[in-house]
Amino acid sequence: MVPLFVVDPVLWDRAGKPRRDYLAASLRALDDATGGKLVVRHGDPVTVLPTVVREAEASAVHMAADFGPYGVRRDEAVEQALDVPLERLGSPYAVAPGRVLTGAGEGYQVFTPFYRAWVEHGWRKPAELPSVTWASLRTDKLPAAAADVRAGELLALDRWHDFLGRVGDYADKRDLPGTNGTSHMSVHLKWGEIHPRTMLADLAAKRSDGAATYRKELAWREFYADVLARRPETVREYYAPRFARMEYDEPGETFDAWREGRTGYPLVDAGMRQLAETGWMHNRVRMVVASFLVKDLHLEWQHGARHFMSQLVDGDLASNQHGWQWVAGCGTDAAPYFRVFNPTSQSRKFDPSGDYIRRWVPELRELSAKEIHEPGPVAGYPAPVVDHAAERVEALRRLDAIKG
Ligand code: FAD
Repeated sequence: MVPLFVVDPVLWDRAGKPRRDYLAASLRALDDATGGKLVVRHGDPVTVLPTVVREAEASAVHMAADFGPYGVRRDEAVEQALDVPLERLGSPYAVAPGRVLTGAGEGYQVFTPFYRAWVEHGWRKPAELPSVTWASLRTDKLPAAAADVRAGELLALDRWHDFLGRVGDYADKRDLPGTNGTSHMSVHLKWGEIHPRTMLADLAAKRSDGAATYRKELAWREFYADVLARRPETVREYYAPRFARMEYDEPGETFDAWREGRTGYPLVDAGMRQLAETGWMHNRVRMVVASFLVKDLHLEWQHGARHFMSQLVDGDLASNQHGWQWVAGCGTDAAPYFRVFNPTSQSRKFDPSGDYIRRWVPELRELSAKEIHEPGPVAGYPAPVVDHAAERVEALRRLDAIKG
Protein backbone atom coordinates (compact mmCIF):
# COMPACT_ATOMS: atom_id res chain seq x y z
CA MET A 1 0.00 0.00 0.00
CA VAL A 2 1.30 3.46 -0.92
CA PRO A 3 0.05 6.18 1.46
CA LEU A 4 -0.49 9.11 -0.90
CA PHE A 5 -1.53 12.70 -0.28
CA VAL A 6 -2.03 15.02 -3.24
CA VAL A 7 -1.53 18.70 -2.50
CA ASP A 8 -4.13 20.14 -4.87
CA PRO A 9 -3.30 23.73 -5.90
CA VAL A 10 -7.03 24.54 -6.15
CA LEU A 11 -7.28 24.09 -2.38
CA TRP A 12 -3.73 25.01 -1.33
CA ASP A 13 -3.63 28.35 -3.18
CA ARG A 14 -6.84 29.57 -1.53
CA ALA A 15 -5.86 28.56 1.98
CA GLY A 16 -4.56 31.17 4.43
CA LYS A 17 -1.39 30.65 6.44
CA PRO A 18 -2.91 29.00 9.55
CA ARG A 19 -4.64 26.42 7.36
CA ARG A 20 -1.52 25.65 5.32
CA ASP A 21 0.57 25.41 8.47
CA TYR A 22 -1.86 22.95 9.98
CA LEU A 23 -2.03 20.75 6.90
CA ALA A 24 1.78 20.73 6.72
CA ALA A 25 2.03 19.69 10.38
CA SER A 26 -0.64 17.04 9.91
CA LEU A 27 1.22 15.58 6.92
CA ARG A 28 4.43 15.53 8.95
CA ALA A 29 2.61 13.53 11.66
CA LEU A 30 1.20 11.15 9.03
CA ASP A 31 4.67 10.66 7.62
CA ASP A 32 5.93 9.73 11.10
CA ALA A 33 3.01 7.35 11.59
CA THR A 34 3.85 5.53 8.35
CA GLY A 35 7.54 5.23 9.20
CA GLY A 36 8.50 7.98 6.75
CA LYS A 37 6.70 6.35 3.82
CA LEU A 38 4.12 9.06 3.11
CA VAL A 39 4.16 10.04 -0.55
CA VAL A 40 3.22 13.64 -1.27
CA ARG A 41 2.69 14.87 -4.80
CA HIS A 42 1.80 18.43 -5.77
CA GLY A 43 -0.57 18.90 -8.68
CA ASP A 44 -4.00 18.23 -10.13
CA PRO A 45 -5.24 14.89 -8.72
CA VAL A 46 -6.63 14.05 -12.17
CA THR A 47 -3.12 13.81 -13.58
CA VAL A 48 -1.25 12.85 -10.41
CA LEU A 49 -3.29 9.72 -9.58
CA PRO A 50 -2.81 7.91 -12.93
CA THR A 51 0.93 8.68 -12.75
CA VAL A 52 1.28 7.29 -9.24
CA VAL A 53 -0.81 4.23 -10.14
CA ARG A 54 1.57 3.52 -13.03
CA GLU A 55 4.69 4.05 -10.93
CA ALA A 56 3.41 1.83 -8.13
CA GLU A 57 1.82 -0.71 -10.50
CA ALA A 58 -1.22 -0.42 -8.26
CA SER A 59 -4.35 -2.48 -8.83
CA ALA A 60 -6.75 -0.05 -7.11
CA VAL A 61 -6.98 3.34 -5.42
CA HIS A 62 -8.70 3.54 -2.03
CA MET A 63 -10.00 6.75 -0.51
CA ALA A 64 -12.64 8.10 1.88
CA ALA A 65 -15.60 9.54 -0.04
CA ASP A 66 -15.82 13.32 -0.24
CA PHE A 67 -19.33 14.81 -0.35
CA GLY A 68 -18.53 18.47 -1.00
CA PRO A 69 -19.33 19.87 -4.47
CA TYR A 70 -15.69 20.26 -5.52
CA GLY A 71 -14.64 16.93 -4.00
CA VAL A 72 -17.40 15.04 -5.82
CA ARG A 73 -16.49 16.60 -9.19
CA ARG A 74 -12.78 16.03 -8.65
CA ASP A 75 -13.20 12.40 -7.64
CA GLU A 76 -15.43 11.66 -10.63
CA ALA A 77 -12.78 13.17 -12.90
CA VAL A 78 -10.07 11.09 -11.21
CA GLU A 79 -12.20 7.98 -11.63
CA GLN A 80 -12.52 8.68 -15.37
CA ALA A 81 -8.78 9.19 -15.71
CA LEU A 82 -7.83 5.94 -13.97
CA ASP A 83 -7.73 2.54 -15.57
CA VAL A 84 -7.96 0.81 -12.17
CA PRO A 85 -10.94 0.99 -9.79
CA LEU A 86 -11.33 3.95 -7.41
CA GLU A 87 -12.74 2.49 -4.18
CA ARG A 88 -14.56 4.84 -1.82
CA LEU A 89 -14.15 3.27 1.59
CA GLY A 90 -16.32 4.96 4.17
CA SER A 91 -16.58 8.69 4.74
CA PRO A 92 -15.53 11.23 7.36
CA TYR A 93 -18.98 10.92 8.95
CA ALA A 94 -20.66 8.52 11.37
CA VAL A 95 -23.49 8.21 8.84
CA ALA A 96 -22.63 9.11 5.25
CA PRO A 97 -24.62 12.00 3.70
CA GLY A 98 -27.70 10.81 1.85
CA ARG A 99 -28.46 7.91 4.19
CA VAL A 100 -30.75 9.57 6.73
CA LEU A 101 -34.12 9.84 4.99
CA THR A 102 -37.70 10.77 5.84
CA GLY A 103 -40.48 8.19 5.47
CA ALA A 104 -41.00 9.62 1.96
CA GLY A 105 -37.38 8.85 1.10
CA GLU A 106 -36.25 12.46 1.12
CA GLY A 107 -33.55 14.35 2.97
CA TYR A 108 -34.36 16.45 6.06
CA GLN A 109 -34.57 20.23 5.96
CA VAL A 110 -34.81 20.72 9.72
CA PHE A 111 -32.25 19.62 12.26
CA THR A 112 -34.33 18.12 15.10
CA PRO A 113 -36.12 15.44 13.06
CA PHE A 114 -32.83 14.76 11.25
CA TYR A 115 -31.18 14.26 14.61
CA ARG A 116 -33.83 11.77 15.74
CA ALA A 117 -33.60 9.82 12.50
CA TRP A 118 -29.79 9.92 12.62
CA VAL A 119 -29.74 8.39 16.11
CA GLU A 120 -32.25 5.80 15.00
CA HIS A 121 -30.20 4.98 11.90
CA GLY A 122 -27.15 4.36 14.10
CA TRP A 123 -23.56 3.82 13.02
CA ARG A 124 -20.97 1.09 12.91
CA LYS A 125 -18.28 0.57 15.52
CA PRO A 126 -14.96 2.29 14.84
CA ALA A 127 -12.88 0.28 12.38
CA GLU A 128 -10.11 -1.98 13.68
CA LEU A 129 -6.60 -0.83 12.93
CA PRO A 130 -5.60 -2.73 9.79
CA SER A 131 -2.20 -4.30 9.44
CA VAL A 132 -0.52 -2.65 6.45
CA THR A 133 2.88 -2.86 4.82
CA TRP A 134 3.80 0.51 3.37
CA ALA A 135 5.53 0.44 0.00
CA SER A 136 8.26 2.92 -0.96
CA LEU A 137 7.76 5.39 -3.78
CA ARG A 138 9.32 8.71 -4.74
CA THR A 139 7.82 11.64 -2.91
CA ASP A 140 7.86 15.39 -3.54
CA LYS A 141 9.00 17.51 -0.64
CA LEU A 142 6.42 17.71 2.13
CA PRO A 143 5.09 21.26 2.60
CA ALA A 144 7.32 23.00 5.15
CA ALA A 145 5.76 22.77 8.61
CA ALA A 146 6.15 25.53 11.20
CA ALA A 147 7.94 24.17 14.27
CA ASP A 148 5.31 25.40 16.74
CA VAL A 149 2.24 23.88 15.03
CA ARG A 150 1.24 20.49 16.43
CA ALA A 151 -1.14 18.16 14.62
CA GLY A 152 -1.86 14.52 13.96
CA GLU A 153 -3.81 11.53 15.19
CA LEU A 154 -1.90 11.10 18.46
CA LEU A 155 -2.54 14.72 19.40
CA ALA A 156 -6.21 14.36 18.42
CA LEU A 157 -6.62 11.30 20.66
CA ASP A 158 -4.81 13.02 23.56
CA ARG A 159 -7.08 16.04 23.33
CA TRP A 160 -10.15 13.88 23.00
CA HIS A 161 -9.31 11.83 26.10
CA ASP A 162 -8.58 15.01 28.01
CA PHE A 163 -11.94 16.46 26.93
CA LEU A 164 -13.81 13.28 27.89
CA GLY A 165 -12.77 14.05 31.46
CA ARG A 166 -14.60 17.41 31.18
CA VAL A 167 -17.50 16.46 28.93
CA GLY A 168 -19.84 16.50 31.94
CA ASP A 169 -19.48 20.32 32.06
CA TYR A 170 -19.97 20.77 28.33
CA ALA A 171 -23.68 21.65 28.42
CA ASP A 172 -23.01 24.46 30.94
CA LYS A 173 -19.77 25.83 29.56
CA ARG A 174 -19.96 25.45 25.80
CA ASP A 175 -21.36 28.94 25.29
CA LEU A 176 -18.75 30.77 27.37
CA PRO A 177 -15.79 31.77 25.20
CA GLY A 178 -13.73 32.83 28.23
CA THR A 179 -13.64 29.23 29.54
CA ASN A 180 -12.07 26.09 28.14
CA GLY A 181 -15.55 24.64 27.74
CA THR A 182 -15.48 23.14 24.25
CA SER A 183 -13.45 20.26 22.85
CA HIS A 184 -11.44 21.92 20.04
CA MET A 185 -11.96 18.71 18.08
CA SER A 186 -13.24 20.49 14.94
CA VAL A 187 -9.75 20.80 13.51
CA HIS A 188 -9.02 17.10 14.03
CA LEU A 189 -12.34 16.12 12.48
CA LYS A 190 -11.70 18.42 9.56
CA TRP A 191 -8.34 16.86 8.71
CA GLY A 192 -9.41 13.28 9.33
CA GLU A 193 -7.18 12.85 12.37
CA ILE A 194 -10.03 11.31 14.36
CA HIS A 195 -13.23 9.67 13.16
CA PRO A 196 -16.59 10.66 14.67
CA ARG A 197 -17.38 6.97 15.25
CA THR A 198 -14.45 6.78 17.64
CA MET A 199 -15.89 9.75 19.52
CA LEU A 200 -19.47 8.44 19.49
CA ALA A 201 -18.34 5.07 20.84
CA ASP A 202 -16.61 6.80 23.77
CA LEU A 203 -19.61 9.07 24.38
CA ALA A 204 -21.96 6.09 24.52
CA ALA A 205 -20.26 5.04 27.74
CA LYS A 206 -21.05 8.42 29.38
CA ARG A 207 -24.39 9.26 30.91
CA SER A 208 -24.12 13.02 31.46
CA ASP A 209 -26.13 15.86 29.90
CA GLY A 210 -22.81 17.10 28.61
CA ALA A 211 -22.20 13.89 26.66
CA ALA A 212 -25.74 13.99 25.22
CA THR A 213 -25.34 17.64 24.19
CA TYR A 214 -21.98 16.88 22.61
CA ARG A 215 -23.43 14.06 20.54
CA LYS A 216 -26.02 16.49 19.23
CA GLU A 217 -23.31 18.92 18.18
CA LEU A 218 -21.57 16.18 16.22
CA ALA A 219 -24.91 15.62 14.51
CA TRP A 220 -24.96 19.26 13.31
CA ARG A 221 -21.77 18.52 11.39
CA GLU A 222 -23.46 15.51 9.79
CA PHE A 223 -26.67 17.41 9.09
CA TYR A 224 -24.88 20.18 7.21
CA ALA A 225 -22.85 17.66 5.21
CA ASP A 226 -26.12 15.96 4.27
CA VAL A 227 -27.74 19.26 3.26
CA LEU A 228 -24.78 20.35 1.15
CA ALA A 229 -24.58 16.97 -0.59
CA ARG A 230 -28.25 17.30 -1.58
CA ARG A 231 -28.08 20.98 -2.49
CA PRO A 232 -24.50 21.51 -3.73
CA GLU A 233 -25.37 24.92 -5.20
CA THR A 234 -25.87 26.24 -1.63
CA VAL A 235 -22.11 26.35 -1.29
CA ARG A 236 -22.52 29.81 -2.84
CA GLU A 237 -26.21 30.40 -3.36
CA TYR A 238 -28.92 31.20 -0.84
CA TYR A 239 -30.65 28.10 0.51
CA ALA A 240 -33.80 30.28 0.67
CA PRO A 241 -33.63 31.95 -2.77
CA ARG A 242 -35.70 35.03 -1.85
CA PHE A 243 -32.72 36.35 0.12
CA ALA A 244 -30.84 36.84 -3.14
CA ARG A 245 -33.32 39.66 -3.86
CA MET A 246 -32.58 41.54 -0.65
CA GLU A 247 -30.70 44.83 -0.80
CA TYR A 248 -27.07 44.48 0.30
CA ASP A 249 -24.10 46.82 0.58
CA GLU A 250 -20.76 46.31 -1.14
CA PRO A 251 -17.81 45.46 1.09
CA GLY A 252 -15.69 48.52 1.85
CA GLU A 253 -14.00 50.04 4.88
CA THR A 254 -16.30 48.50 7.46
CA PHE A 255 -15.58 45.05 5.98
CA ASP A 256 -11.86 45.70 6.44
CA ALA A 257 -12.54 46.80 10.03
CA TRP A 258 -14.47 43.56 10.60
CA ARG A 259 -11.70 41.38 9.17
CA GLU A 260 -9.05 43.16 11.22
CA GLY A 261 -11.00 43.26 14.50
CA ARG A 262 -11.41 47.08 14.56
CA THR A 263 -15.20 47.47 14.62
CA GLY A 264 -15.34 49.10 18.06
CA TYR A 265 -17.57 46.26 19.30
CA PRO A 266 -15.35 44.39 21.79
CA LEU A 267 -16.76 40.88 21.39
CA VAL A 268 -16.69 41.11 17.59
CA ASP A 269 -13.12 42.40 17.64
CA ALA A 270 -11.97 39.76 20.13
CA GLY A 271 -13.37 37.00 17.90
CA MET A 272 -11.87 38.35 14.69
CA ARG A 273 -8.48 38.75 16.34
CA GLN A 274 -8.65 35.24 17.80
CA LEU A 275 -9.35 34.00 14.26
CA ALA A 276 -6.44 35.98 12.76
CA GLU A 277 -3.99 34.83 15.43
CA THR A 278 -5.00 31.21 15.92
CA GLY A 279 -7.16 30.13 12.97
CA TRP A 280 -9.99 29.19 15.34
CA MET A 281 -12.90 31.03 16.95
CA HIS A 282 -15.38 30.02 19.61
CA ASN A 283 -18.81 29.01 18.24
CA ARG A 284 -20.80 31.65 20.16
CA VAL A 285 -18.47 34.33 18.84
CA ARG A 286 -18.67 32.95 15.27
CA MET A 287 -22.41 33.53 15.50
CA VAL A 288 -21.99 37.07 16.81
CA VAL A 289 -19.39 38.17 14.24
CA ALA A 290 -21.37 36.56 11.42
CA SER A 291 -24.54 38.33 12.49
CA PHE A 292 -22.62 41.60 12.68
CA LEU A 293 -21.40 41.22 9.10
CA VAL A 294 -24.82 40.38 7.68
CA LYS A 295 -27.16 42.49 9.79
CA ASP A 296 -25.07 45.42 11.00
CA LEU A 297 -22.88 45.85 7.92
CA HIS A 298 -25.57 44.59 5.46
CA LEU A 299 -23.12 42.44 3.51
CA GLU A 300 -23.92 39.15 1.84
CA TRP A 301 -22.95 36.13 3.95
CA GLN A 302 -20.67 34.83 1.19
CA HIS A 303 -18.10 37.58 1.89
CA GLY A 304 -17.77 36.49 5.48
CA ALA A 305 -17.85 32.78 4.67
CA ARG A 306 -15.01 33.20 2.16
CA HIS A 307 -12.89 35.02 4.74
CA PHE A 308 -13.62 32.31 7.33
CA MET A 309 -12.69 29.52 4.91
CA SER A 310 -9.35 31.10 4.15
CA GLN A 311 -8.51 31.60 7.84
CA LEU A 312 -10.16 28.80 9.82
CA VAL A 313 -7.94 25.84 10.51
CA ASP A 314 -11.14 23.80 10.91
CA GLY A 315 -12.72 25.42 7.82
CA ASP A 316 -15.20 22.90 6.47
CA LEU A 317 -17.40 23.86 3.52
CA ALA A 318 -20.61 22.31 4.80
CA SER A 319 -20.41 23.55 8.42
CA ASN A 320 -19.09 26.92 7.40
CA GLN A 321 -21.42 27.82 4.52
CA HIS A 322 -24.46 26.51 6.36
CA GLY A 323 -23.34 28.02 9.68
CA TRP A 324 -23.28 31.36 7.87
CA GLN A 325 -26.62 30.78 6.18
CA TRP A 326 -28.14 29.82 9.53
CA VAL A 327 -27.00 33.09 11.11
CA ALA A 328 -28.02 35.08 8.03
CA GLY A 329 -31.50 33.61 8.34
CA CYS A 330 -31.51 32.22 4.80
CA GLY A 331 -30.44 28.63 5.56
CA THR A 332 -32.02 25.40 6.72
CA ASP A 333 -33.69 25.58 10.06
CA ALA A 334 -32.35 29.09 10.25
CA ALA A 335 -32.55 31.55 13.09
CA PRO A 336 -35.31 33.88 11.89
CA TYR A 337 -33.76 36.89 10.15
CA PHE A 338 -35.57 39.32 12.44
CA ARG A 339 -33.70 37.89 15.44
CA VAL A 340 -30.71 40.22 15.30
CA PHE A 341 -27.87 39.52 17.72
CA ASN A 342 -26.97 42.54 19.81
CA PRO A 343 -23.15 42.35 20.04
CA THR A 344 -23.10 44.24 23.35
CA SER A 345 -25.70 42.20 25.19
CA GLN A 346 -24.24 38.95 23.79
CA SER A 347 -20.94 40.08 25.24
CA ARG A 348 -22.45 40.82 28.69
CA LYS A 349 -24.26 37.49 28.70
CA PHE A 350 -21.56 35.13 27.43
CA ASP A 351 -18.35 36.85 28.56
CA PRO A 352 -19.62 38.38 31.81
CA SER A 353 -16.19 38.85 33.38
CA GLY A 354 -14.75 40.24 30.12
CA ASP A 355 -11.85 37.77 30.31
CA TYR A 356 -12.25 36.62 26.72
CA ILE A 357 -12.22 40.21 25.47
CA ARG A 358 -9.19 41.08 27.60
CA ARG A 359 -7.30 38.11 26.17
CA TRP A 360 -7.70 39.29 22.56
CA VAL A 361 -8.15 43.05 22.80
CA PRO A 362 -5.28 44.31 24.91
CA GLU A 363 -6.34 47.97 24.54
CA LEU A 364 -9.28 47.14 26.82
CA ARG A 365 -7.33 45.12 29.37
CA GLU A 366 -7.56 47.68 32.15
CA LEU A 367 -11.36 48.06 31.95
CA SER A 368 -13.67 46.55 34.57
CA ALA A 369 -16.24 43.85 33.78
CA LYS A 370 -18.87 46.57 33.84
CA GLU A 371 -17.11 48.90 31.39
CA ILE A 372 -15.54 46.47 28.95
CA HIS A 373 -18.62 45.54 26.90
CA GLU A 374 -19.39 49.15 25.93
CA PRO A 375 -16.11 50.91 26.49
CA GLY A 376 -16.70 54.50 25.27
CA PRO A 377 -13.56 56.35 24.16
CA VAL A 378 -10.37 54.39 25.01
CA ALA A 379 -6.96 55.42 23.67
CA GLY A 380 -5.96 53.20 20.73
CA TYR A 381 -9.36 51.48 20.49
CA PRO A 382 -11.72 52.47 17.64
CA ALA A 383 -15.15 54.01 18.15
CA PRO A 384 -18.00 51.77 16.89
CA VAL A 385 -17.98 51.71 13.07
CA VAL A 386 -21.78 51.59 13.00
CA ASP A 387 -24.62 52.23 15.43
CA HIS A 388 -26.11 48.80 16.18
CA ALA A 389 -29.58 50.10 17.11
CA ALA A 390 -29.88 52.02 13.82
CA GLU A 391 -28.51 49.17 11.69
CA ARG A 392 -30.91 46.72 13.28
CA VAL A 393 -33.82 48.86 12.12
CA GLU A 394 -32.24 49.12 8.67
CA ALA A 395 -31.75 45.34 8.47
CA LEU A 396 -35.42 44.78 9.30
CA ARG A 397 -36.48 47.35 6.70
CA ARG A 398 -34.54 45.47 4.03
CA LEU A 399 -36.02 42.18 5.18
CA ASP A 400 -39.51 43.59 5.00
CA ALA A 401 -38.99 44.37 1.32
CA ILE A 402 -38.52 40.69 0.40
CA LYS A 403 -41.35 39.34 2.54
CA GLY A 404 -44.34 37.71 1.02
P1 FAD B 1 -17.43 21.79 20.28
O1 FAD B 1 -18.41 22.69 20.94
O2 FAD B 1 -16.53 21.02 21.16
O3 FAD B 1 -18.28 20.83 19.34
C1 FAD B 1 -17.92 19.50 19.03
C2 FAD B 1 -17.98 19.25 17.56
O4 FAD B 1 -19.32 19.31 17.10
C3 FAD B 1 -17.22 20.27 16.74
O5 FAD B 1 -15.85 19.95 16.68
C4 FAD B 1 -17.93 20.17 15.40
O6 FAD B 1 -17.46 19.07 14.66
C5 FAD B 1 -19.37 19.87 15.79
N1 FAD B 1 -20.13 21.12 15.84
C6 FAD B 1 -20.40 21.89 16.91
N2 FAD B 1 -21.20 22.92 16.57
C7 FAD B 1 -21.44 22.81 15.25
C8 FAD B 1 -22.19 23.58 14.32
N3 FAD B 1 -22.89 24.66 14.67
N4 FAD B 1 -22.19 23.17 13.02
C9 FAD B 1 -21.51 22.08 12.64
N5 FAD B 1 -20.78 21.31 13.48
C10 FAD B 1 -20.75 21.67 14.77
N6 FAD B 1 -17.40 24.21 12.27
C11 FAD B 1 -16.43 23.59 11.58
O7 FAD B 1 -16.02 22.49 11.94
N7 FAD B 1 -15.88 24.19 10.47
C12 FAD B 1 -16.29 25.42 10.03
O8 FAD B 1 -15.78 25.91 9.02
C13 FAD B 1 -17.29 26.10 10.78
N8 FAD B 1 -17.70 27.33 10.41
C14 FAD B 1 -18.69 27.97 11.14
C15 FAD B 1 -19.15 29.23 10.73
C16 FAD B 1 -20.15 29.88 11.43
C17 FAD B 1 -20.62 31.25 10.98
C18 FAD B 1 -20.71 29.27 12.57
C19 FAD B 1 -21.77 29.96 13.35
C20 FAD B 1 -20.28 28.02 12.98
C21 FAD B 1 -19.27 27.34 12.27
N9 FAD B 1 -18.81 26.06 12.66
C22 FAD B 1 -17.84 25.44 11.93
C23 FAD B 1 -19.43 25.35 13.78
C24 FAD B 1 -18.76 25.56 15.15
O9 FAD B 1 -18.52 26.92 15.39
C25 FAD B 1 -17.44 24.81 15.28
O10 FAD B 1 -17.60 23.46 14.90
C26 FAD B 1 -16.93 24.83 16.73
O11 FAD B 1 -16.76 26.15 17.17
C27 FAD B 1 -15.60 24.08 16.79
O12 FAD B 1 -15.04 24.14 18.07
P2 FAD B 1 -15.05 22.85 19.01
O13 FAD B 1 -14.52 21.66 18.30
O14 FAD B 1 -14.37 23.24 20.29
O15 FAD B 1 -16.61 22.68 19.24
